[in-house]
This record gives sequence, C-alpha cells and structure tokens, in this order.
Amino acid sequence: MTVYLVGAGPGDPGLMTARSLELIAAAEVIVYDRLIPANALDGARPEAKLIYAGKEGGGHQVSQAEITRLLVEHGRVAETVVRLKGGDPFVFGRGGEEAEALIAAGILFEVVPGITAGIAAPAYAGIPVTHRDGASAVAFLTGHEDPDKPGSALDWAALAAFPGTLVVYMGVRQLGPIAARLIAAGRAGDEPAAVVQRATLPGQRTVQGTLATIAQLAADAHVKAPAITIFGSVAGLHEQLRWLERRPLHGVTIAVTRAREQASRLAERLRALGAEVVVAPVIRTEMLPGPVPDLGAYDLICFTSPTGVEALFARLDAAGLDARAFPAPDRARIAAIGPATARALQTRGIRADVMPAQAVAEALAEALAGVSVSRALIARAREARDVVPEALRARGAEVEVLAVYETVVELLDETQAAAVAAADYLTFTSASTVRNFLAAVGGAEAWLARGPSRPRVASIGPVTSAELHAHGLAPDVEATSYDIDGLIAAIIGA
Ligand code: SAH
Repeated sequence: MTVYLVGAGPGDPGLMTARSLELIAAAEVIVYDRLIPANALDGARPEAKLIYAGKEGGGHQVSQAEITRLLVEHGRVAETVVRLKGGDPFVFGRGGEEAEALIAAGILFEVVPGITAGIAAPAYAGIPVTHRDGASAVAFLTGHEDPDKPGSALDWAALAAFPGTLVVYMGVRQLGPIAARLIAAGRAGDEPAAVVQRATLPGQRTVQGTLATIAQLAADAHVKAPAITIFGSVAGLHEQLRWLERRPLHGVTIAVTRAREQASRLAERLRALGAEVVVAPVIRTEMLPGPVPDLGAYDLICFTSPTGVEALFARLDAAGLDARAFPAPDRARIAAIGPATARALQTRGIRADVMPAQAVAEALAEALAGVSVSRALIARAREARDVVPEALRARGAEVEVLAVYETVVELLDETQAAAVAAADYLTFTSASTVRNFLAAVGGAEAWLARGPSRPRVASIGPVTSAELHAHGLAPDVEATSYDIDGLIAAIIGA
C-alpha cells in the first residue's frame, strides 16, 4: 500500500523514466494530470482505475483537496497507487503538499522524479541553463502571480541581481510585468531571453529576444501556455544550438495510412526527422477462430506472415494446446516467408527450417523446391495470392490452405478523419492503402468534399499514383525511389 508521486516528464513520451513506466504498468489506481505525455497510460493494466485530476483548462476541475482525498482513500486499500504529474512532482507540482497529506494519514509514499519542464524546455531549445562563460547558477521561479501585486512571494530585487539564468514557469500571461519588474530592479534590458512553447512536443517553438523585447515578441507570435521563459546570456545560444527546430520535418504534420503494425516503421522514421505523425490505421487484422488441424499429419507447415503465426497459436491456445502440437523436427519442415515471421515462430519455441532470402511468395516457393513434400499446411490470411499452394500442388503435394486471419477496413471516426484532414501530408505506400483509406473515410467523394484544405498527397511510386488518379486524387509528391526512404526524401524535398 504505497502511493507513488511520479513525474511523467515534459511531454515527449521518450522522456518518461523507466521507473515511471514500471509503476504505471503495476498500478491498480492512477490519478493523473492534464500535462502528461499522450499515451503515458498505454501501459496501464486494463483493469486499472484511471482518474483524471486535471486542474487547468476547460471541463471538470478537480480541487487539490479532492485530489489529496482520493490519494488517501485509494492509498489505504490499493497496493500500488500512482499519482502521475507532468514534469517533476516536486517542482511546481504540489507534490510536497500531497506527500504531507499522505504522511499525516499514515500512508507510505515514494517519489519518482521526472524531467522538469524548466530543464527540458531549454535543452530542447538548444539553451544550456548553465555555461562556463557566465552562467554558473540557475534559478527556477513561478511567474504565476502578478509581480506588482503587494505581497508577491518573489523577491524581484534579488532575482534581478541573481548572477545566473532565470527559468520562469507559468509566466506567459505575466511576461510583460515580470520583464518590466526585473528591468526596473536593475537587470539589463538587453539580456537575451527566450520563450519555449510546448517544449519537447511536436509543435514546439521558440521565440527569442531580449528581456526588454520578449513580452511583445511573444504576444505577436501568439505564444500560449504551456511555455517556459529563460532569461540570461545562455538564451542567446538558441540561434546557434536550436537542434530540434532545425530538423527537416519539424513543424510538419504527416498522416500515415497503413495497418497499425506496419505504420510504426514509417511513423518512427518521420518522427525522428521531427514530423508530427497522425496514424490512420485504416486496416486491421482480425483473427479467424476455428479448429486446429492435426499438425502431425503434415510434413510441411508454412507461415507467410507474423500475424499468421500469432493466429495459429491463438487457435492452439483456445484448444488448450501449445507448441507441442507441432510435428517433431524429423517428421516435418517449418517454413517462414521472412525474418519477421521466423522471429514470431522463434518466440513461440519453433525454429523455421526454410526461409527465402527475399520475403515474397515467389521466393518462398523457390526455396521450397528442394524440400520433399507430400502434405502441406499453409496458415495465412483469407485474401492472399495462391503462388505457394499452386507451386506445391504442381509438384503433386496435397495442400491445405488454412485462413487464420483476415484484414478488414477500419472506418475512421470523425475525430480521426479530422486529424488526418488537418495534416500537411497524407502518405500512401501502396495501391491497397489508397483503396483502404478511401473506404475508411466513406469513399473518394466524401474525402474530396472536405474541400481544398485537405492535406497534400504523397505517393510511394507510380502504381500507387495510378490508383490515386483513378479515384480523382492527384498526388502532389511522388517518390523517385519507390520505397519508404524515397517517400520521405520526396516529402523533405517538396
Ligand atoms: N511539475 C511540472 C510543472 C508544473 S507547472 C514540471 O516539473 O515541469 C506547469 C508549467 O510548467 C506550465 O505553465 C509551463 O510553464 C511549464 N510546462 C510544463 N510542460 C511544459 C512544456 N511541455 N513546454 C513548456 N512548458 C511546460
């Protein structure tokens, strides 16, 4: 029965600590804030109780007293309660008050620090908060209050004289008064300053100026919370060290239309180049339940995708069986179309005997030419080409094709469709992704009816482009080398 006060970092999911992920996966109850990374709760147990306790923004507001009460109530009965907060729980996060309340209630607690926005924002903006040349100290302060209000908690004269970098949280609205106050107290108006909005998130941007100009520049640029402001000579280094905002696809939103599993590789590459990726998972695989054939009756068992492996094992599992249902190695050969399929088998304790160099059906048929086969089983998708069964039958083998899964079009809901429509680019990596996408958005006409604000269309090559043209969608960008790298290069070059 422990309540963990856990920092979730500034927003980039990659900046969550290993310990935070471990605790999220173990928690029975998670009380979370608004400013936590998207998908931070993906690893939570399906039966975990997730309680939103955001205090800012619209909608239902949960008071600090209510949050504390929740922590105490669940901390008394649940083994693991996670209180998940943006950044670090003890930096402007009211973690101290929550810890005090837990101690008072006799409940054990632990603290898991997170990367605080005041460290992350300057880092992602290319601003080192300390520097051997003139920044030997750093102060974190809240800009929440009106500095001219009598009884302000901050000593502005001391801060003006502070010999180092000032990092201001929550200060967007008060930026003008804060800067004026510091200048009035003697801080140099020409000292470099920077405001970093949505730091570590895809829309991160930085406005750079001086203590005297930054408030106006930020207002002109419509900078909004969440943002961190940095005052100090180091803020001037942003121009030279702005590594993140300089990435080739920074600020570009790209929609990826593929089955969820395949989308991840393209999405990962695009994210690494700075793009914000919207995944439109227009197709999905569905397991087809059914009986397990007597595997011992075959001398060849072929798998043509990792999903086929997963689906056959799902059937075995449903029948109370496992890898022992496979024939002994001296009685049958196991074939995998490629390394991913072989890996899927390996993780289930089955070694593939045959695997072609190229993961296509023709190559698998060729690789099987030297294998003696009398009865073969092929576990695969419902719709697939018949290259392998035909090649085996032509050799006189008896072949059973077992459809263990199928791919079905997944309709995008309006939120997903709107997110795709708002992207800068929409990528297509095959003719079938074009057909599936259009089916998922209710047809080409419905898509085109969204008007000219639709994203630009990026095609992986001529076959995909022909399919786009056939539906009245002209590609704006076409790859010159017909693969993922080519597609990415075409977008960057556009
Ligand atoms: N405990 C948090 C701070 C909470 S106060 C932490 O350690 O980071 C909320 C303030 O944090 C915001 O007003 C903003 O100033 C800052 N902040 C949080 N996330 C941010 C982000 N991604 N980019 C810029 N500032 C952020």
